[in-house]
Amino acid sequence: MSEHCTFCEILKNEKTASYVYEDNRTIAILDIRPINEGHTLVIPKKHYENLYEIPDEEVAYLFKIVKKVASAVKKVTNADGKSIFQNNGRAAGQVIFHVHVHIIPRYEGQRSHRLRCDASREKLDEVARKIRNQLTLST
Ligand SMILES: [Zn+2]
Repeated sequence: MSEHCTFCEILKNEKTASYVYEDNRTIAILDIRPINEGHTLVIPKKHYENLYEIPDEEVAYLFKIVKKVASAVKKVTNADGKSIFQNNGRAAGQVIFHVHVHIIPRYEGQRSHRLRCDASREKLDEVARKIRNQLTLST
């Protein structure tokens, strides 16, 4: 557990988040600064700073959940494609130093990686609910 870790604070219910998925090892929440609607973060509950710290079995499990959540995001957003990535270190654009995987819906002709969309809590909760419903349907 690290001090001032936003994800650990969310896990302790000290900060709000729009939940998409939760099990005993993992959560998936919507990014509060989404690049596109449905931009989701998949996060292990245990605090690991980056990919080098997380044990292999945990990586395998994390990506199993990434695949599951990405499929639901795909169905809800009807996006043409999906970027799935994970940043390690400040130079790579990592902002929160608790390992997490981004799932970002992408559209044909959309070039910028810095687009931002509506991220009011109401909007995030609405999108999260759609993805949760989709996950329930597919299990
Ligand atoms: Zn943390």
